[in-house]
Amino acid sequence: MTKKKAKKPKQKKDDSLIAAEVENFCKQLDRGLERIESTSDLSERSLLFENDKKTVEKFIAFLKENKPKVSEENKKEFEIMIKNLNQTLKYIKEGQKEIEKTQKAQKEAGPQIICPYCKKQFLIDGTKTSAEYTCSECEKTFLGIMGTVLGARGLGGYVAHQAVIRVQNKEGGIATITYYAKYQGSDIFTGDFIAAIYKKGALSGEYGTRPAIIQNFTQGTYTTKL
Ligand SMILES: [Zn+2]
Repeated sequence: MTKKKAKKPKQKKDDSLIAAEVENFCKQLDRGLERIESTSDLSERSLLFENDKKTVEKFIAFLKENKPKVSEENKKEFEIMIKNLNQTLKYIKEGQKEIEKTQKAQKEAGPQIICPYCKKQFLIDGTKTSAEYTCSECEKTFLGIMGTVLGARGLGGYVAHQAVIRVQNKEGGIATITYYAKYQGSDIFTGDFIAAIYKKGALSGEYGTRPAIIQNFTQGTYTTKL
């Protein structure tokens, strides 16, 4: 008698553990999909999609593994969930394809530079290493120095230091981007196509020595923490 009693709650505990895990997966997935909806940054969307894909795959594997352990009613519930999750997986894969297509089209069209004032991205011809651009949105002017990274030092490890990035000029030769960095680290690797983007100083009316943005076209990222 006592043995039976002891066994029953254990069974119940297993069921509620599975239910809690299902709940967790649902929450995680909802959050992930919400984040995708709320971001327009392509490379970020791409990462979020990849994360969600992994969550869905884990979720499906979990349901399949635990299906034999649950009641008949829940078995049916699990089957419906697996069907729905496969639909979600399809949606994610379509989203990923869409991003790849857009990224490819953008690459072919030329670099999209970011305005340091309003953060609007717009297409430029990108044939010059150093050029002034006028934003198509806020109509302010800024300077862009772009090229392929040959080498960089002082980009990580410690704060308040001199950063030096050497880039291959579009026209041949080498340009050097030098500034006194306040932050540590930025994701720049040899071979990346980048732009250092400068604002005009409010007082001097001249371009400062510290870029407002370093944009990495190859990685599809940019940073203002320089
Ligand atoms: Zn602008």
